[in-house]
Amino acid sequence: ANLENGTFKKLDVVVVGGGLVGSLEALFLAKRGHRVRLYEYREDIRNTPQARGRSINLALSIRGRTALREVGLEDHMINNHGIPMKGRNIHRIDGSTYIIPYDSRTKQCIYSVGRNYLNGLLLQESEKYENVERFFNHKLIASNLREGFLSFQKTDTKEIVEVNADLIIGADGAFSAVRKEIMKQPLFDYNQKYIEHGYLELCIPPDSNGGFQMPPNYLHIWPRGEFMMIALPNQDCSWTVTLFMPFTHFKSLDNEDKLLKFFEKYFPDSIPLIGKQKLIADYFAGSASPLIAIKCRPYNVEDKALIIGDRAHAVVPFNGQGMNAGFEDCTILNQLFQKHHDDLAKILKEFSDTRWEDTFAISDLAMYNYIEMRDLVTRPSYLLRKAIDDVIFWLMPKVWIPLYNSVTFSTIPYTQCIKNRQWQDKVLNRSLLFLGTVTSPVGAFYVYKKFVGLS
Ligand code: FAD
Repeated sequence: ANLENGTFKKLDVVVVGGGLVGSLEALFLAKRGHRVRLYEYREDIRNTPQARGRSINLALSIRGRTALREVGLEDHMINNHGIPMKGRNIHRIDGSTYIIPYDSRTKQCIYSVGRNYLNGLLLQESEKYENVERFFNHKLIASNLREGFLSFQKTDTKEIVEVNADLIIGADGAFSAVRKEIMKQPLFDYNQKYIEHGYLELCIPPDSNGGFQMPPNYLHIWPRGEFMMIALPNQDCSWTVTLFMPFTHFKSLDNEDKLLKFFEKYFPDSIPLIGKQKLIADYFAGSASPLIAIKCRPYNVEDKALIIGDRAHAVVPFNGQGMNAGFEDCTILNQLFQKHHDDLAKILKEFSDTRWEDTFAISDLAMYNYIEMRDLVTRPSYLLRKAIDDVIFWLMPKVWIPLYNSVTFSTIPYTQCIKNRQWQDKVLNRSLLFLGTVTSPVGAFYVYKKFVGLS
């Protein structure tokens, strides 16, 4: 246990990466009384109002909320900032729409939150703790994790800064250059997959009165089979629109004429919302970004270093769980700090041994959800299944939790969410088979009586 002569031993922790997960983890560690130094490659996000690269807004759900609650920020995010989204608002090609509620039973919602806002809030909160120091414009360039040693380069002066720590938390995101270091370990499993699809962000501005141009409390989806567009509401009544499609499609839309024809064919109702000129300007101002999924393990290097968040398990963004899963890492880690009284060897080992199964599971679920969002939601079979799920969930809320609800509105481990879905599928298939067996002789008898028996 982390006790020296019966007193609590303060650990010297370095967190690499001051993104969403790193900033939150710094808060958890600070709350436990440890000394925390947070190193971030970029400048302080609170001084750069414009979004930087990644999605501008994100869907926050229960796993993320649970972690924010622990550090006292959930209420603020939900009540003062987040915009509730209570279902999917599906746009057909002819411009008509229909709604698929997320949770018709208890009316739970997911919340659209600004990435920069949330990141800034987490950093701001850390100012309340004297035991947290923040270093921006510091890029990690080398490390010896086993020795607890890190070397940073200041991006402005190019000065090298070397630090030692009892514990290194790597939260430097999916494209971390330093993962190479941890990959040198024997028996380290690593698998990364770029999907064929990329994403590009567009924007629907507020209307002339400064209000929303579409009903705000939904996640809007334009599912088109092989590709799709989605929109999440922002605080200023604009919408962040994300177009997901194969890179080959992006490449083929290489002039204004082709772009407009494509939008007229597949997303006609979005053109007046975005505005023709804005659509052209925004589309050609950026280029499509790749989407990566990473599965790796173990997450620790002995009792010295641990990777969390996207650095450990980046997932494709189709069920809005990347950040939520990263925040859940922080909750679980905090529980392990309590359970093992800050004994790093036990904490890091247990986290590494147990967490990977759930992060692998959410990665698979996120891949599946892309098909659901861009294609299945338009199919009667999907809508029928959703209706059946909703009815049984309403009748037996503790027993039958549909997949989306268990992932988004519960903290049931992701692996268990998959197992639940598997037994639910079995039950439904058997019931259908039973119904088929019972009804077919009845049907045959009816046909016989009507057409044969009476003749
Ligand atoms: P990051 O946010 O990537 O932060 C890593 C930080 O480390 C960055 O600040 C970076 O500058 C810093 N860094 C990198 N290298 C170094 C270095 N060498 N030295 C020092 N610092 C370094 N998740 C959801 O839960 N809901 C959603 O709706 C959702 N939508 C998404 C939409 C899109 C299009 C994408 C791409 C992702 C989405 N995600 C969503 C996933 C979410 O963005 C990530 O899971 C989340 O950002 C992970 O946080 P992180 O802190 O682990 O990594």
